[in-house]
Amino acid sequence: MERTCVGCRQRSQRAELLRIVEKSAVLVFDRQKSLPGRGAWLHNSQDCLDLAISRKALNRALKLKSAVDLSGLIISKEQAETMLANK
Ligand SMILES: [Zn+2]
Repeated sequence: MERTCVGCRQRSQRAELLRIVEKSAVLVFDRQKSLPGRGAWLHNSQDCLDLAISRKALNRALKLKSAVDLSGLIISKEQAETMLANK
């Protein structure tokens, strides 16, 4: 199953993307890719994350109406890789 990255807009396999969800006005990575509700998909790439933030693509994908806390999205490459390995 393919999903579109909210950063670069390219399609990739679900397993190659991280899923982001909103929880009480805080954006977090959905480690199991199984949380209910809307999700935004993103490559494990700082560039894609920066693009998504600068284009406000996360706000659109998740239909956010107000400002959200993005601090939960700052993770290390290793943490992201662990999440990707955790299918
Ligand atoms: Zn991307």
